Parts: sequence; C-alpha cells; structure tokens
Amino acid sequence: MQLYNSLTREKEAFAIPHDRPVTLYVCGVTPYDTTHIGHARTFLVFDVLVRYLRWQGAEVRYCQNVTDVDDPLFERARRDGVGWRELAERQVEQLLEDFQGLNIAPPTYFPRASEEIGAMIPIIERLVELGHAYVVGGDVYFSVQTDPDFGAMAHMGYDELLALANQRGNRPDDPKKRDPLDFVLWQTGKPGDPTWESPWGPGRPGWHIECSAMATRYLGPQIDIHGGGADLIFPHHPCEIAQTEPVTGKRPFVRYWLHAGLVWLDGEKMSKSLGNLVFARDALREHSADAIRWYLLSIHYRKEFDYRREALEDYEALALQLRQAAAAKGGGGPPLDLGPAAAELKAALADDLDTPAALTTLQAMVTATLAAAAEGRDVTEAAATVRDLATMLGFTLEA
Ligand SMILES: [Zn+2]
Repeated sequence: MQLYNSLTREKEAFAIPHDRPVTLYVCGVTPYDTTHIGHARTFLVFDVLVRYLRWQGAEVRYCQNVTDVDDPLFERARRDGVGWRELAERQVEQLLEDFQGLNIAPPTYFPRASEEIGAMIPIIERLVELGHAYVVGGDVYFSVQTDPDFGAMAHMGYDELLALANQRGNRPDDPKKRDPLDFVLWQTGKPGDPTWESPWGPGRPGWHIECSAMATRYLGPQIDIHGGGADLIFPHHPCEIAQTEPVTGKRPFVRYWLHAGLVWLDGEKMSKSLGNLVFARDALREHSADAIRWYLLSIHYRKEFDYRREALEDYEALALQLRQAAAAKGGGGPPLDLGPAAAELKAALADDLDTPAALTTLQAMVTATLAAAAEGRDVTEAAATVRDLATMLGFTLEA
C-alpha cells in the first residue's frame, strides 16, 4: 500500500507487518459541539483505512483520544452553567451514538485526557531534565530553539510558523516565554479551571502533551500511522514530535502522518465562529448512513470537501442501488464475473486510500450486477462480491 506522508510530502510504501499489530492514533474531539460533518469526514476516512487493513488480515490497534482538558470545553461549561465533566460526558455519549449511526467502528482505545494526567507529568519532567523545557513559576514551556527540526512538517520558515501558530491559539506575547513560538506543557490555568497536582504546583497540561502521552502509553514509543484533520499539520503534530522523540529516544515517533482535508459548507469554511456547523446527527435524521458515507468518501481524503446538503439525495439513490445489487438473486444464464473490478477497487484503496476511484468502481459493479440480474444471468457470485466489498468499505446495506 502507498500512503501519503505529510512529513515528507511523498507517497511512501506501507507494508502490513505480520509479527505485530498496526498501530494507529487519531486526534479526537474536544467534547463540546460534536460531531460536525468535519469530524465525521475525518473519522470516516480512518474507519475505511482500519477496515481495509483488517480486511487484509492486519491486527489494528486504534487509539483515539478525547481532549476533555481544553479551554473551549471549560469556557462552554462556564457559559452554560454546567460542570465540565458533565458536559464532556454528554458529548462523548453523543459522539459514540454518532459513530454507531455512521457505522464507524469504535477505536480499540478511547482515553480521556483528564484520566491520563499521570502519564503526562513524567514526560514533562523528563523534557525539563533534558533541557528541552523550562519552568517559570507554575508553568512549563517547551523550548523550540532546542529542536532544530521543529515544525518541519509545515515546510515553512520561522516567521510563517509563528504567524500560523498565532492564528491557531498561540500567545506570542506571553512574557514568560523565551521564544514566542514556545508552547505550553503545563500551566497554572485560569481561576476556576480544574487543576491537578504536579511537581510545579496545581495546574493542567497543555493540549499537545496530552496526545504524546496517550499515544505512547497505548501504542508504544513508535507508531505506524498518526492521523487527524489538516489543521493539525501545524502546530499540534510538530509539537507532538518535538516533545515525544527526545523522551522516548526513538525516531521517528510516527512513520506515516495522514491528514484529512477540511470541510466547507456551500463554499464557506465550516467553523464554530461562523455558526454554520452541520452535525452528523442532523444528517442522520434525514439520510441513511450509507448515503452519508458514500458522499463523504466521494472526494479524496486529502482534498478539502465542500459539503452541500442537497447532494445527499443522489447518494441516497446510489445507496439504494447498492442494497439491491447486494441482494440480487441469480438466474440461470452465464455468470457475471466481477473479479477484475474487485481487483481494481482494492488497487484504488491501496493507492493512498483513493476512495473516489474505489467508489466509482463499486458503482460500476452495482450497475453491472443489476443489469445482469435483469437479463436473467447468474449473479450469485457477483452479489456476494458486492456485499463483501461494500461491507469492507463500511456500508451497512440498510435503508
Ligand atoms: Zn492530538
């Protein structure tokens, strides 16, 4: 299989290991306002990857975290006058319902950052010992100057990195920092925020260290595939690399970095600030999981996706034909051979998970099966092949 690695910006060969599981970590949600179609797309892409690998006999250990220690969650809980744990629990329940509704296989491990603080503190302590981090009062920062490769994944110079980080929540004028690009590993937090005990006093971890701790705790010091949305290409994922590799002593921390393109709505960026989020549960009220899956996988995962609600009608029609082809009964005529098409579909997935090409082939298989059945040909094998491949792609074959 070829996978496009965001770090090298090249497609690289990925062979399924036979003596150990494949390890996959995907950055999960901050549990408020979930699951919008952007989340759904990212998680569907990795669901297809997991299904494809398992279908080929791989054991996949998939860890997806819940970022329940994060400013937006605390702010929302304060605004709504509810406890942050209560809000997070409710949203995690909703997320799992949405996964079920979309037929997304649950991850093997689903850790919550708030329950993993004990795994984060030793990593921060070690970074301080190694000189990669410094303590100012109750706060600990990672020193980006100690890592000459910092931010390599973004393929940008320092000024561009800083500008992008600032757009994405960095506070460059924090007087405690040695470099405006340094990032928080541990912070005292705002009054009223939850805190945990630490060698630096009560506080809480920074967002980036949460993922390093959970990824290495559940999957080991080196992992095969690390995924997330394209907005994590900087600063989140480079921060994970910078703080993990010195502590584990293993490079690279991740062999393949995969990023799903962002989702737009009717030509506008979909975002909380614009208030134009479309939620998976709303889409599921009007459409089948199969139509939503087909639609969201109809564009290559690395491209941006412009979501248009009205487009789902067409995919509902395709989902119906898929069910009909999967249930087609054989006649007595010459059998329909879908072997070459099946091989084509698999080859498309092996090429950096080219789901649009795979789905075009699936559609041709469906059309051929329905036509052959109408002619009274034997479609027993063909229908079985359609069922097998559709299930591998995560279709439910249910209305
Ligand atoms: Zn992460």
